[in-house]
Parts: sequence; C-alpha cells; structure tokens
Amino acid sequence: MVRGVTQQRLETEIAIGEGADPALPASDNGVRVTPMMEQYQAIKAAHPDYLLFYRMGDFYELFFADAEVASRALGIVLTKRGKHLGDDIPMCGVPIERADEYLHRLIALGHRVAVCEQLEDPAEAKKRGPKSVVRRDVVRLVTPGTLTEDTLLEARSNNYLLAVTRARASSPDAPSRFALACLDISTGEFRVSQCDRLALAAEIARVEPSEIIISDALYSDPDVASLWRGLSVVAPQSRDLFDAATAERRLSDYFAVATTDAFGSFSRLELAAAAACVTYVERTQLGRRPPLSPPTRETVGTTLLIDAATRANLELTRTLTGERRGSLLGAIDRTLTAAGSRLLAQRLSSPLTEPAAIARRLSVIDRFAGDPALRGEVRDHLATAPDLARSLARLVVGRGGPRDLAAIRDGLVAAAALAEHLERAIDAPTELIEATAGLRRPGPAISAELAAALASTLPLNKRDGGFIRAGFERSLDESRELRDESRRVVAELQARYADVTGIRGLKIRHNNVLGYFVEVTQQHGDKLLSAPHNVTFIHRQTLAGQVRFTTTELGDLAAKIASAADRAAAIELEIFERLTQMVTAACDAIKEAASALAVLDVAVGLATLAVDGGYVRPEVVSGPDFVVTGGRHPVVEQALLRDGGPFVANDCDLSPPAGETSGRIWVVTGPNMAGKSTFLRQNALIVVLAQMGSFVPARYARIGVVDRLFSRVGAADDLARGRSTFMVEMVETAAILNQAGRRALVILDEIGRGTATFDGLSIAWATVEHLHEVNRCRALFATHFHELTALAANLPRLHNATMRVKEWRGDVVFLHEVMAGAADRSYGIQVAKLAGLPDAVIERAKMVLSELEAQDRASSARQLIDDLPLFAAIPRTKSRPNEAPGASALHTALASIDPDDLSPRQALEALYALKLAAAKTEE
Ligand code: ADP
Ligand code: MG
Repeated sequence: MVRGVTQQRLETEIAIGEGADPALPASDNGVRVTPMMEQYQAIKAAHPDYLLFYRMGDFYELFFADAEVASRALGIVLTKRGKHLGDDIPMCGVPIERADEYLHRLIALGHRVAVCEQLEDPAEAKKRGPKSVVRRDVVRLVTPGTLTEDTLLEARSNNYLLAVTRARASSPDAPSRFALACLDISTGEFRVSQCDRLALAAEIARVEPSEIIISDALYSDPDVASLWRGLSVVAPQSRDLFDAATAERRLSDYFAVATTDAFGSFSRLELAAAAACVTYVERTQLGRRPPLSPPTRETVGTTLLIDAATRANLELTRTLTGERRGSLLGAIDRTLTAAGSRLLAQRLSSPLTEPAAIARRLSVIDRFAGDPALRGEVRDHLATAPDLARSLARLVVGRGGPRDLAAIRDGLVAAAALAEHLERAIDAPTELIEATAGLRRPGPAISAELAAALASTLPLNKRDGGFIRAGFERSLDESRELRDESRRVVAELQARYADVTGIRGLKIRHNNVLGYFVEVTQQHGDKLLSAPHNVTFIHRQTLAGQVRFTTTELGDLAAKIASAADRAAAIELEIFERLTQMVTAACDAIKEAASALAVLDVAVGLATLAVDGGYVRPEVVSGPDFVVTGGRHPVVEQALLRDGGPFVANDCDLSPPAGETSGRIWVVTGPNMAGKSTFLRQNALIVVLAQMGSFVPARYARIGVVDRLFSRVGAADDLARGRSTFMVEMVETAAILNQAGRRALVILDEIGRGTATFDGLSIAWATVEHLHEVNRCRALFATHFHELTALAANLPRLHNATMRVKEWRGDVVFLHEVMAGAADRSYGIQVAKLAGLPDAVIERAKMVLSELEAQDRASSARQLIDDLPLFAAIPRTKSRPNEAPGASALHTALASIDPDDLSPRQALEALYALKLAAAKTEE
C-alpha cells in the first residue's frame, strides 16, 4: 500500500511537467509557464472562492495559496514542485481514496472546494501530441449546504441551504419583509416562508441552515449586517442569483413545468428566494438537478415562534455544550430510521399552532400507543428500511453506487410490507391512511427488478463491478465466463511453464503497469535469459530479487482477458445506468414512500416514548388556558431515572382566573437547588411537545395554543453560555417585553441577578408589572427576590408559588415540590453549608444575616407597594432601544467639562471620573 502511494506520487511528480516542452516560448521575464499550469490557472480563475482540488493520477493536488491553506487546515505536508514564473510552486495533495474525509474536514471548517477531474485518459492526451495536457474541468462545487454524500452528511440531521431575500419597505415606517427558502438537496425538501425583521433571527434559528446565501447588497445592509456577522455560515452571492425578474422562469425551468402556478401562489419575494436556491444548486452541481420536491409555503403564524436564545436555553435539539445527547430531542427520539429522526427534529423545531393539525398528529400516536402488536410489527419493518431519500438524491445527481440501488430496493420492500399491515389495521386515523397510500405509491415493479438485478454482496463503487447477479443478463454472463475461463487458462499456463523450465517457483502475476508477466527469482533469471528458454521468454524488467518476462502466448491471453473484462464492466455500467433511469423516473413516487416511512417512524417512536415514559395525550385548544397536572421534566426525569432517583411531579396552572381573559403569571421563589429552573423549563418543554404533536410527561395537560415562546436565564445563572454579561440579559429581556403578546408564554429565570441587589430587584419588579399590565401573557418567573411576592397584593393575575423545603437539624432538605405561597427565606447559608464552606464562615454569615434581617427588607417592600403609584399609571414612554442607557450620563459629564478651564491636575481627575462613568455604563 505504502509503495503504491509512493509510486503514484512519483507519477504525479512527472505529470507536473505534463505538456512541458523545452522548446516552449519563454514568457516576458524569461520563464516558461507550462501548459498544465496555464490550464490550472484558467480553472482556478473561474472559481476564485473555492479551494481547487486538481486531479492528477491518484491524487487531488492543491497549488499556491490553496496548498498553504489546505496543508494548515488538514495537517498535511506542504511540498514544493516545479517553478512558476521563477518561484517554487507550493503544493500539497490528497489521495483520492481519502478525499471524502479531507473534504469533510475542510467543509466543516467553512471552506468550499471545487473538484476538478481528468476528463480523459492521459493516454488519449498523449495521442494528440507530446505537448498536450490531459483535459480537465471542475465537475462539482462542494459547499456546506449542497452535500449529498453519506460520508459528508450527518444521517439523523437535515442539511439545509437557506436563501434570504428582502423587499424594501414602501415607506420608511412600514417594516421590510423577508422571504426565506430552505432546501435540503440530500432529501429533496424545499420550503418557502415569509417574515418581518423581528422574526427573522428566530426563523433562521428554526431552520438551522448549514449555509445561508444572500445578495452582496443584503449582506452589507446596516439594518441586518449584525445578524449576518453573528452567523458563521453566511455566503454572500452576486445579485443575479436573486434577480426577481427571472426568478419565475428559473424555477419553472428547474422543475420542467410551464409555470410555477401549479405549486401554489408565491409572492415575487418568495419566488426570488426559491429561485436563488435552485440556481445555486445548479451552479454547485454543475447543471445536474437533484430531485427536489416543488416548494411548499409555510404560512406565517402556523408555527410556534421560538427565537435562537430560547432554543438554546431550552436545549431543544442540542445542549448548551452542543450535543444532541441531553437535549429534548435526544430524550424523545425513539425513531428507527435516519429519515424518521430528521423528521422528528423538524417537528420539534417547528411546533404547530393549529389545534386541528396538532390533533391529527396526536391521533396517530394514540392509535399506535393503544395497539402494542401493531406497533411491534411496524417497528420490525422500519428497522429494515434504509435511507431512501438520500440514496435517491445521489442516484439522480449521478453520484450513486450499487448500494444506493440496494437501499431503494430494501426501502421499497419495507414500505410494501408495512402497507400490508396498516391496511389491516382498523380505525386508522387520517394521517395513517394517507401514509399507507404513500407507501403504496411506487408499486412492486421497481423493487422486483432491482431484486432480480443486484448481487447479494455489493461493492461501494460501480466501477469495481460484480454487482449484477449472475443470470440477470445473458451478454454479461458470457463476457464473465470468457474472462474467468481465460483466467483459468493463465493458471494452466503457469503450471506448464513451471514444468517446461523446471522452475517450481515460477509465477504469472499481474500489475497495472506491466499487465500479466512471468516472474522468477533472481537466481532463476539467467536460466530464462539463455537458450533454449530465451526463445519463449522475453525479458521485461529486473528488480532487486526478481526478474520478469513476458511471452507471446501470455500477451494474447492477456488481451483476451482484458477485452472480456472490459466488456463485462461496460455491460454492468450499462445495466447500472438503466436501473438508475428506472429509479429516477419513479422519483416522485419513491419520495412519497420515503416520507410516509418517516411519518410512521415518528408516530411509532413517539407512541413508544409515550407508553414507556407514561406520557399522556395533551388537550390542545385555542384560548388562553394552561393547566398541567403532575408535569415532569422529560430530560431531567430520564437522567434521574438512570441514577435511580424519583422525579417529583408538579402542577402548574396559568389559566385566567374567573372573570379574566388573560393568563396568569406565577412568581416562583425558593432557595437555590430547590428545583425552580427545572419547573419553569418543564412547562415550556411540555408546550413544545404538545404543539409538535407529541404526548407529554404529565398526568393531564390542557394547553391553549402558544404562538411565541420565550425563555431567558439571568446572566449570573447563564454560565454555560459563557456570555454572562448583564447587558445581554437586559437586551434579551427587552426583546421579550417588546414582543410578547397575549398568546405568548414567557419563562424568566432569575432576571436581574447580574447587577447590584436594588438595581436587580427594581428591574425584576418593573418587568413583572409590565408582563402583567402590558404584555398580558402567561408567564413563569423564578426569582430569589422574595420582595416580588408582595406584588400579588396588587396584581390580580399574579400567583405566588414556592418550592417546599424541610429544615432538619439545621440542614435543608429539598422536596422539589411546588406549592402556593412565598418562600420566607433563601436558605442561602444552609446551601453554603451543604457545599462545605468552613464553619467559621457559616457562623459569621448567620450573624450578619440576622443584623440585616433586623432592617427587614421584606417589610420595606410591602411599604413600596403602598407608596409607589401603580405601574399602569406611569406614563408609558416609548423606549428607544438604540440608545445605550449610560451613554447620556457620559455625555452630560463630558458636556460639563471645559478643557480650556482646567488645570493639568483637574484634567487628569476629570479623565478618571469619565473612565469610571464609562465602566459603570458597560456593566
Ligand atoms: P434551582 O433553579 O431552584 O436552583 P434547579 O431547577 O436547577 O434548582 O434544580 C436543581 C436540581 O434539583 C436539579 O439538577 C435536579 O437534579 C433536582 N430537581 C429539580 N427538580 C426536581 C424534581 N421535580 N424532582 C426531582 N429532582 C429535581
Ligand atoms: Mg435555577
């Protein structure tokens, strides 16, 4: 193996001078540019933003700056080969058999790669004359959002390309509109939606794209520039991609339809985004068209809006440290197929807001949950279903192999078998009936033909041959017989030669350079080189230990074998193309079966979860209700279960009190570690689960549809995100107070902790009042400011809840139980004692505390309630988010300074004062 590589590398070194000719005219400064370098530079110039993988023999080589970038990124040796304009050419190379692995790493690092292949046999090029260069061109642009290879993709995640377009506001006051088109070419999913500036970041977070394309103009627009800078996957593109005038035509061309009307009615803005996607795909796939579903519109308001911070905070699809394990998705995923897992992630990322649509999904789970036998059968079949969608996409773009055909065969067989079972199921809900019809769509012919054609063990690559079953095609069988027969004759010939020469160790071998040859050890070499054997044996090569010969007879035989083998290979490739054509022609039907499989997988998976985990069907209704009885945290519960501990279930009721139309706010107090954060999050997660169409971990749940979900954790608690600045906390709180409407659910955990006590308390206080009086949304507010509980006296929809703790011989025991009422104390000192603080410190802290308690902060808060005018009575000044709060203080201080009037010492003091003021602003 090692020798093989060295040898190929040697050939490459020779090839670098490909087309080099000493008689070539010298360029201006007296140095020659070889024709190969000319070709390289022309190709590179056409793809300036890409690292160019330039195929030479068994390597992809990179040159110049590309080589430097790649060698650093991949940790491979940077060499120098040949000269260009008098300088050494930096070069590094990647062996083709490991190219996918290197591509994967480069893409993951955010690079894009242009793959340039040899388009003819180097022998062909030579025939054109010694100076000619092997024809090469780029066959594919590899970008993060346009991958199809299994080795480059995560099986259980979608890989989205997202295009964003914007319509400028008609007047300065009107908000701009944005259209988003997202596309996964590895599965064919294609969706379009619209939103405004406020929802844009949340929409992008929902899709979690691997690559975002926007126009150069949008990229540099000040209104959105900060958003793009915060995303690592944005790739600005030239404006022609986003041209609205040609969008409709580009889309209908792609789908080969006369007009896009058949897909539904799209705005110009949406068409432009969708067209940008397909044009970008055509460009990167060099004209090949992966099998996309026609774009479907996601109507505004049909999904629950969840912004990026809330997603991260609730750890919906990954934990704060970026892992799937430990996230909600990780906890509820009982799917058996990669496609099912992808669909589950999609549904979790886009919970619905339509009670009827949610109920349709829940009914299927109900059906499966109540029928263990059916569930078992369906799971057995699903377990045998490979990833139909991705194999299909690879076959259509010409990157498929024999194993992709086998995947189609097995997937279709599983689909048909499943349909059989489901048709026998009685009382099937609508979604199940539809899925069953989808499974039937491709019919039995395709899988039957594939089953007849494909051999039982398959090579990865079609060029390796041997994947068509014997007996499938006569001409192939004949060529193979001829080839194998000749191979037998070679074996006979070897025996005969050994006999005639008396050299028992004589072997007939084969390699790619010499073809077939006779090989004997050095000591026997002379014998064949002299009479009488030298008449038959013609010397080819002498190596250190062996001498190699050929014979006329062997030459003839080799030619026969080669032609039979070539013919067999050609026939196999022909059959492969034919089968691929057949599959491509049935593309839509196969895709439908694939998505039906995914739908079933999700339903059965969620039903399994519901049964195993004791989940119930939630009642999802319109209106402001919110009742969860015996609710549990799906992730914490599983973690505790593994450690053998019980999870304490808790109730939550945010429904409007009698006579009110807006929901309640719960202020939850209690010591550290008592379970406040867990309680808050479990209720948010129950909403997400219910609205995605899953059962929920509770004894009973009645959820009035939530349209926006917000969850924030105070800066001091938000250590995992590594952004524990008070500013971030305030920016995020501002977003909630500005955006949450009546149907929102707001989770605020320890807001106001990141600053001095009285500041924090005041902010928390005002925030609760605002939520109650202005936003009028349902909310859960965990806080260590016990003073806030006093607000319940004046705010009718405020409810105080606290975590039960027991004190036992001076220690605190957490019961994790939520009950009505306010915590009377923090138990901070008890917690500190549990944590092992020295006794002396604990004792001293107790003394200080009792001193402070003498001043009775709590009663002063009650005083506050009486003294302060009610929040609603305060004239509401419109907030101006752009103005940093401390900036004006700094301005005032600056304005009061007259530099001409200061002594040097005063100037210095003024400077210190300003710095101090500035530092306070940043806090
Ligand atoms: P707080 O926010 O009040 O400081 P957390 O919600 O972070 O408390 O909970 C602290 C720990 O207590 C959790 O990590 C979990 O192990 C445990 N816990 C929380 N709620 C429960 C519960 N309902 N049942 C059992 N254990 C719980
Ligand atoms: Mg907490």
